[in-house]
Amino acid sequence: MPFESARLFARGVACRPMNESKPKSNRVHFSSGAEISNGNGITIRTDSFSISLDPKAAMPVDYTFVSHAHIDHMHSPKGKSKIIASQETRNLAKVRGYNLGSASGDVPGVEVFDSGHILGSKAALVKDKIFYTGDLSTRDRGFLRGCKGVKCETLVMESTYGRSRYVFPEIETMVAQVHRFIGHCFDSCRPVVLTGYPLGKAQLISYLFSTWEPIYLHESVFRMNLSHIDMGIDLKRFADFQSGNENFEAKLSRGPWIVIAPTLSNRSPFVKELKQKYNPAIATFTGWAMDSRYRYLTGVDAAFPISDHCDYRDLIELAKYCSPSMVYTVHGFAAEFAAHLRELGFNAEPLEGGAEPQERLTSFIAS
Ligand SMILES: [Zn+2]
Repeated sequence: MPFESARLFARGVACRPMNESKPKSNRVHFSSGAEISNGNGITIRTDSFSISLDPKAAMPVDYTFVSHAHIDHMHSPKGKSKIIASQETRNLAKVRGYNLGSASGDVPGVEVFDSGHILGSKAALVKDKIFYTGDLSTRDRGFLRGCKGVKCETLVMESTYGRSRYVFPEIETMVAQVHRFIGHCFDSCRPVVLTGYPLGKAQLISYLFSTWEPIYLHESVFRMNLSHIDMGIDLKRFADFQSGNENFEAKLSRGPWIVIAPTLSNRSPFVKELKQKYNPAIATFTGWAMDSRYRYLTGVDAAFPISDHCDYRDLIELAKYCSPSMVYTVHGFAAEFAAHLRELGFNAEPLEGGAEPQERLTSFIAS
């Protein structure tokens, strides 16, 4: 058997898998010789192949899995490692200057599933036993369908929002609040800037609030929206924001409008210029908005917790659905969330040693 399964609970009491090395390590050995390690992405070595999951730099392994096209999951492939990625991820990576090559076709021992995070994002099931979620959302949002999860022996899951305060409202509730916010601004002739990641969040914003007009797009969002339209996503073709164009600026001065832009610091020239000329209300979309300090620290007028990740409860539901013998948590509140899972009777530990600093509220404030 390529993997010996991590041990299940004994009468509901969490216990350490008998065949694993010490916990809180960046490397976990199975007695079969298989191994999971966390460093430059996560690497799984089995008796028949090795696979690197979302590395930051090319790895000398048989397969490299690129779960989605966010920059922190991208690398420039080198060597002979076969890239496993969806066609959408390959297309979006290309727009961002990364060439992941052409589709790999099926790879024996690696099955991929929609992870519901952004267009083309995937989770991977290795050897029918280890399920790696990558970034994921289990909620349906706009044109995205939530991840359903899969039964597995070992679950390697993201835990970005793995703290109990991060429980997001229903998406419909948030959408209604945003419409009200835009309505209030428009009533007082105040333009609105809606901000989020240029890939993923910005397309969701474009989709959810497309009934307002006029809407213009920051150049980085414009490129990503076009790419989505090319791949069949039903987004309206909004014009790009032409800063410095005299005719365009005359048009802007005639009434309220919306610009969809990346999350930018108040110190960025784009935001400074907009504020100076038009005094728009700035709203942002992130799960960190659940933290009362977020608005104060970022200086935005409104923050809505519409996220492309699971919230705390979604993460727990996913773990229950997958019913693994062992859970390893990565990113965000990895240690804290693993402790929560242990309280619920799971066998869980953080998989430490990631190359990236953990994503926290403060990492957004600094940018
Ligand atoms: Zn992501």
